Amino acid sequence: MTDQQEEQRISQLLSSDKRFKGQTDNFYVQTLKLISDNLRAFYARYASSKGLTADVVRQRITHWDLDQFIHAIDLLSDDAPISEELKKRKKLYKYQAAGGDHADAVAAIIGATIAVTTNKVQHVSRQHLANDYAAEQRYQQVIASKHIVWTLPHTQGIQITPAIGHVVDGSDWSDRLWVHSDNMVADVQKVVRNSLSGGLQQQQLEKLLQHLQPGTNAAGNLQAAGETEMWMVDRIIRSESARVVDKATMDSFKNRRVKRVDIVTEPDACDKCKELAARGPFLLVECPALPWHPNCRCKKREHVENEEPTPI
Ligand SMILES: [Zn+2]
Ligand SMILES: [Zn+2]
Repeated sequence: MTDQQEEQRISQLLSSDKRFKGQTDNFYVQTLKLISDNLRAFYARYASSKGLTADVVRQRITHWDLDQFIHAIDLLSDDAPISEELKKRKKLYKYQAAGGDHADAVAAIIGATIAVTTNKVQHVSRQHLANDYAAEQRYQQVIASKHIVWTLPHTQGIQITPAIGHVVDGSDWSDRLWVHSDNMVADVQKVVRNSLSGGLQQQQLEKLLQHLQPGTNAAGNLQAAGETEMWMVDRIIRSESARVVDKATMDSFKNRRVKRVDIVTEPDACDKCKELAARGPFLLVECPALPWHPNCRCKKREHVENEEPTPI
């Protein structure tokens, strides 16, 4: 067993991070697009030749607004089980819409659609983390059986047994996911409310809904308003994946009664991680938990006694 094998495994995990980020980002991007379509329909429904006046925006909600709200949620529904978190938010946004004006109705659509999407992200993330745990367990089995050549089977949709559920749900990641989801709602609502509050012209609407290259920083743009928290969501899931991989590794080490452990740093590791690795080998019981910081993909391996230390 060599550092090279671990490095290969790390690069596999890094590309899995990338794939999964693409998937969750896409969920939110589609939702922001749905919100955009909704705003266009809203504008077409209520704007006159003078655009959308502040007076119209402040008029009481209509059946049309409520239908839009219900239709938007219907468009997003899928087979992800509805969590308690989503139930609470759906109720809240329905209530907000019902008692308010046109601007409140739009804000409610933003809140509800992002919440439905986060529910979906939570569901697929849980499966993703379970897959990562199972894949690492298998990898560690291969390592333990001392096969030189290994190929990792593609682990997808594994059954989440109580033992795996315990590891996956063993941190507050889903609570934090909802915090960032609520922040995203607030960011997007704010940019839309700001646009609506003084009345809205076609030109301002275009600026608000303009499609940007990802990562473009543009004040007053809907997509840009959603992106900050999308990044935070990705970061949570990446760090949680590193946590369950570390748990699978440590479980295997304990079973095999491994005594000492080395930390293998990821390519482009930061100084903090390099310093940590240089302090190794660690006694198993004293080995720090990984990730060492958010986004860290460093890994552990059994220390081979009498091996020349690898220069860092
Ligand atoms: Zn680092
Ligand atoms: Zn690291």
